[in-house]
Amino acid sequence: MAATIVHGPVHATICPGRATLAAMRIGVLHNRASGRGKGPAFVQRLRALAPTRGFDVLDLPLDLASHAGALDDLDAVVLVGGDGTLHHALAFLTAAHGGRGVPTLIAPLGTENVVAKELGLRPRVAATLDALGALRRGAAPVRSDLGVVHHPDGRPGVPFALMLTIGPDAAIVHRVARRRTGTGGRLRFVAPTLARAARPRIGRLSVSVDGQPLASEQRGCLIVAVGPRYPMRLDLARKATRTDGLLDALFLPAGTTAELLAWALLARLGLHVGHPRARYAQGRRVEVTLHEHRPGAQELEDLQIDGEVERVACDAQGRLVVESLPAALPLVLPAARQAMPIQPSPTRAGVSA
Ligand SMILES: [Mg+2]
Repeated sequence: MAATIVHGPVHATICPGRATLAAMRIGVLHNRASGRGKGPAFVQRLRALAPTRGFDVLDLPLDLASHAGALDDLDAVVLVGGDGTLHHALAFLTAAHGGRGVPTLIAPLGTENVVAKELGLRPRVAATLDALGALRRGAAPVRSDLGVVHHPDGRPGVPFALMLTIGPDAAIVHRVARRRTGTGGRLRFVAPTLARAARPRIGRLSVSVDGQPLASEQRGCLIVAVGPRYPMRLDLARKATRTDGLLDALFLPAGTTAELLAWALLARLGLHVGHPRARYAQGRRVEVTLHEHRPGAQELEDLQIDGEVERVACDAQGRLVVESLPAALPLVLPAARQAMPIQPSPTRAGVSA
């Protein structure tokens, strides 16, 4: 008589005297709107090679993957893209498998791949297949925390995997989004960055972390981080870890372009967190009041989430609430970094003839 046991995400059917592993079902999640870059060639090569390594591959454009239940029959997802693609997939990646989330392996082929770099992932088909192989052998994904920004009207919040900021860098992201004309890469940030640096608009913020004040009606920038990295190697919340259940909040007081540039220089040197004017705290809940918000605005010009523009507004009093979502997303690590479990013997696994 055969018995079915579960090793991690992979179903194995064991018969007396014989053991076979069922093919692992992989969804290749990509953004079909981004036809540029190396993404399409990567997807084509992965789809060609994956079956030779025993993986069943399902093509999953981002828009189809967002349908309820679309990921529930998959053992893992390979997400082809950068931080923006990951950001827009978070809600359904975490909702899959009854809310436990589907194991997700990032193939970093976006403009910014900050989360993937933090995890040590590389944009190589062979490395992707090796990581999936380790997962099939029972290696456990790391369960990453996420953050969530709540809508004041009670709609489901916006999850994030890296960080959000409130300040002039967010205004640059908004300007880039408005100007998107098909020119990719970091060059598209140059003109909006210069324009914003010439006339910075730095609002007054009050911030508390788990009820403890971090800033009180001060001009400056706020970073709320899940992970330690930030684009362009400005690792602002460099003490953050994505597995402690906590968000890291950093407030940098600034009112002028010169002060902003000084913080950027200190951040590049790794000296900003220890600076006596910087405020840093960790906690589960961050409450922000934007004292100069525009009442009735549908989105906040000063807010960017994972480097993206999201339609999130504050309430009538300018308040915004951010919370930690501990261990919300199972992320697959490179094969060399995956912790292998002790393989259970057939008797311990409860297999009987
Ligand atoms: Mg943390």
